[in-house]
Amino acid sequence: MSGPRYLTKSRFKLGMECPTKLFYTKKKEYLDSKMDDSFLAALAEGGFQVGELAKCYHPGGHDITTLDYEEAERQTNELLKQDKVIIYEPAIRFNNLFIRIDVLVKNGNHFDLIEVKAKSFDNEDEDAFLNKNGTISAGWKPYLHDVAFQKYVLSGKFPKAQVDSFLMMADKNAECPVDGLNQKFRIVRDESNRTGIKVSNTLKDSDLKKQILVKVPVDDMIDKIMEDGTFLKSIDCLAAAYEKDKKIVSEIGSHCGGCEFKCSEDDEAQGYKSGFKECWKKALKWNDSDFKDPNVLEIWSFSRKNQLIADGKIKLTDLDVDDFEPDTDGKPGISAKERKWLQVEKVQNGDTTPYFDKEGMKLEMDKWTYPLHFIDFETSMVAIPFNKGRRPYEAIAFQFSHHTVYEDGKVEHTGEFLNTNVGEFPNYEFLREFKRQLENDDGTIFRYSPHENTFLNHIYRQLKEDESDIDDRDDLCKFIKTITSSTSSSAEQWEGKRNMVDLWHLVKRYYYDPHTHGSNSIKYVLPAVLNSSDYLKKKYSKPIYGAKDGIKSLNFKDWTWLEEKAGKIVDPYKKLPKMFQDVSDKNFEILTEDDELANGGAALTAYGRMQFSEMNEIERKELSSALLRYCELDTMAMVMIFEAWQEWVSLG
Ligand code: SF4
Repeated sequence: MSGPRYLTKSRFKLGMECPTKLFYTKKKEYLDSKMDDSFLAALAEGGFQVGELAKCYHPGGHDITTLDYEEAERQTNELLKQDKVIIYEPAIRFNNLFIRIDVLVKNGNHFDLIEVKAKSFDNEDEDAFLNKNGTISAGWKPYLHDVAFQKYVLSGKFPKAQVDSFLMMADKNAECPVDGLNQKFRIVRDESNRTGIKVSNTLKDSDLKKQILVKVPVDDMIDKIMEDGTFLKSIDCLAAAYEKDKKIVSEIGSHCGGCEFKCSEDDEAQGYKSGFKECWKKALKWNDSDFKDPNVLEIWSFSRKNQLIADGKIKLTDLDVDDFEPDTDGKPGISAKERKWLQVEKVQNGDTTPYFDKEGMKLEMDKWTYPLHFIDFETSMVAIPFNKGRRPYEAIAFQFSHHTVYEDGKVEHTGEFLNTNVGEFPNYEFLREFKRQLENDDGTIFRYSPHENTFLNHIYRQLKEDESDIDDRDDLCKFIKTITSSTSSSAEQWEGKRNMVDLWHLVKRYYYDPHTHGSNSIKYVLPAVLNSSDYLKKKYSKPIYGAKDGIKSLNFKDWTWLEEKAGKIVDPYKKLPKMFQDVSDKNFEILTEDDELANGGAALTAYGRMQFSEMNEIERKELSSALLRYCELDTMAMVMIFEAWQEWVSLG
């Protein structure tokens, strides 16, 4: 391995997550499942441009762009000879620690160290960083540790200097002063594939006069972090281990569930090593075959994992009913505890058949009114608003899909909406079209997750606060109130008489298929129902979707949803043409991971790409049709889940 082995900001962050990861990182033999495409990550994060905007708020600075450690340090040291200077990305080294600071303002013997984060901050909340008991909240810890680390390095290099530290973030309460600010910061890739931001030459002083980022002093928090000396010990320990390439053995626990150094058996067969297996083998004296058995990491939303791992109860076969206390919660269907125990019991009994509460589901179905509507939204929240008066991380709803199921069983893809026009705030047109499609009957509306309800609440608030003339404002607000319930943070409380039904909630209460391995994501539930429903197998193994006398579709023609390979159902999402031609399968998988909706992350990335990056018309068209197909499958997936349940309810 070449190059100096400095503990950088990102390595420090990784080491704070788990010190063992420092040993695996960037080694060819250990596969790392984290996204390795910074362009894509920037789009998915939605806040990459914030860093560039922060620089604009500190004008006249010098940008250090080289990635070479020594050269960056040399250029920084040269600039720091000036009494007053602003530097973007200066390289500061202190012993074996090395940082690049987002913005450094030097004024004589005084430094302002500014770390920019694509995160929303409520400047009116005085104790935003703290829990009620005065400790630093877990959510803020990684950000504050990051600044504390940088302050330690900078103060180490300049021991006599006064260092003031800040987190610069999107101000939740600020209103954007102008239209089109977002479009003035475009994400680009350079020749060496590095991601950067191109600032438009139309950016004016007036665009920056009223700031939408807030600089929050964090020295008090850093003093708290440094208080007992353990933080400094951690830095020393991580830096020394990384420098010598020594593995720090950490305790295994629930955090290992999300470890990026896991790899599949196929990858291992190709010669890659799994860092995860290495840790678990050492801690548990396991061999390869032990990993084939389901373990506690698979249990959905289970807070006792760490305790059970510490007690040596790792495999699902080691657990017993007392570990779950699976009481009913008095509500229809199974409680979360009962569902977890069901997952374990099925493994222990070697039972791979689905659980389905036929009576419970029948009672739910009896409440529904035909025609049934299945809807799905694609949304985004961008740091720099599109329009004047909008706030950072304003909710943007740019796409929906809508399927209808009639009482006679007829299915159709009724409608859709997509607005990816650059710089346009799509929400009101989105809502108008949504209302137009849904207001013609009283049929039950289904969503998958609370997301659609939350977003309609956002649009309701936007409509109420918008000072411009909106002729149909009252109608739109009234419509939202009929089909939603208010969120807990809303001052106004309501529950619509046609409140949408959450299919995700029904999955959790009435249905469990061991093939989902405890996940409720539609990405796992869809293949599972396709596997176990004879009705779906028969119906969708023919090219009826988008066929002349088959199911009406707006984006597919003569499509067969169900295909079997080697006795297993092919995931319908995998059958779709690729959404991005230049994105690896691995990175696309990551975009769609951990999402109730199969492609939520991918859709907002596609939207970001169309808004903030250079793209020609052909690429734009292709991406739009991919978005339409993916969203159509999201609602079709809901229809198929419903059809399977309907089949099982009707079976004698
Ligand atoms: S498997 Fe667990 S202990 Fe090992 S590196 Fe990953 S998170 Fe750390």
